[in-house]
Amino acid sequence: MIDFSLSDEQKELQRLAHEFALKEIRPNAESHDREGKFPLDIAKKAFEVGLMNLSIPETYNGAGFGVLNEVLIAEELAWGCSGVSTAIGVNHLACAPLIIAASEEQKKKYLGMLTREVGFASYAVTEPQSGSDVSSLQTTAKLVGNEYIINGSKQWITGASVAKWFYVLAKTDSSKGHKGISAFIVDANLPGIKIGKKEDMMGQRASTTHSITFEEVKIPKANLLGQEGDGFKIAMKAFDKTRPGIAASAIGVARAGMEHAIEFAKSRVSFGIPIAMHQGINFLIADMACEIEAARLLAWQAAWATDNGIRNTKLAAYAKRFAGDVAMKITTDAVQILGGYGYSNEYPVAKLMRDAKIFQIYEGTSQIQRLIIAKEIFLR
Ligand SMILES: Cc1cc2nc3c(=O)[nH]c(=O)nc-3n(C[C@H](O)[C@H](O)[C@H](O)COP(=O)(O)OP(=O)(O)OC[C@H]3O[C@@H](n4cnc5c(N)ncnc54)[C@H](O)[C@@H]3O)c2cc1C
Repeated sequence: MIDFSLSDEQKELQRLAHEFALKEIRPNAESHDREGKFPLDIAKKAFEVGLMNLSIPETYNGAGFGVLNEVLIAEELAWGCSGVSTAIGVNHLACAPLIIAASEEQKKKYLGMLTREVGFASYAVTEPQSGSDVSSLQTTAKLVGNEYIINGSKQWITGASVAKWFYVLAKTDSSKGHKGISAFIVDANLPGIKIGKKEDMMGQRASTTHSITFEEVKIPKANLLGQEGDGFKIAMKAFDKTRPGIAASAIGVARAGMEHAIEFAKSRVSFGIPIAMHQGINFLIADMACEIEAARLLAWQAAWATDNGIRNTKLAAYAKRFAGDVAMKITTDAVQILGGYGYSNEYPVAKLMRDAKIFQIYEGTSQIQRLIIAKEIFLR
């Protein structure tokens, strides 16, 4: 039996997130984008109403939600502004590897750090010379006595300047390829850690992105996650949990773009009729509605699968690839429908188009999602 209906609790979560997006996020979206200001004030409010740390188990004072509930919330918050929702949702990706692989002690300490008061953590994997090809990363971790010594640098790390800790991948054995990569929890205030300047990004400008340099950074041996060599596997498993939420955020942006386009098309007149009456315009909008629905079904399916213990690597890649590409197409078409107004920063759709682009890049580019899908088709 297939049932697409949401429970009363899920509808209530959706309503809460939508209200929050409408009242707290949307009114501030334009100024945060223009100034590139990190939305700490909004994060504090989100923390108070329970819209942060959604995936952290209740034992550690998180919301303890499954991926489907996170997906419902992510779409609404990103509908408000995906720059703000990425900034306040950064813990989601950083915590996923800990939820999968951390010891009880590690979870208590590091997940607890984020739920006692508003706080952030970052997922620090990408490097200046290695993005899609994670196994080519160069950061090293050397065991000396009871400590690992970390050297290397990370690039494009969301939330690095506000994080209390980082999830870091580093090589413990460079002769073993991806099996020589290990995962660590690194406190952000340790000597030898330098955070680079805030990067000047084209979209999602409320979110803060930085490089991180590790120079002879000493961390306790106890901060290794799982066993040596488990890092790559843990990082990839984490994506299966987080990519449905990224897809949902892309859908939120696409939906906002479509809604603006519909409103404009109803009131803008050309050749004596509203442009919504021109088939060239209303077919664009018909395609938007259809593609948003298809993307949402993929995101929900990928979320539902993992919540039900079903391996969802391919489904999560379908959802992330499709929703990311759909968000880019829909927001570009929304700009087209608004014509010159669409191209102006006075109207919200130009920002949505800038914001949408990152969904084809972070948490695995659209090409990498296709690579995963093809591997699943041919090699499994
Ligand atoms: C705003 C922002 C926030 C980010 N946040 C984080 C974060 O918090 N933590 C983190 O670790 N990283 C983060 N990233 C990094 C992001 O995940 C990487 O940028 C992304 O994985 C791509 O890596 P790259 O930029 O090195 O591009 P590359 O891997 O160099 O790829 C360049 C191009 O080549 C394509 N390509 C590469 N390999 C293949 C292939 N085999 N087949 C076909 N095409 C291929 C890619 O799709 C891309 O189009 C962030 C990036 C940005 C821009």
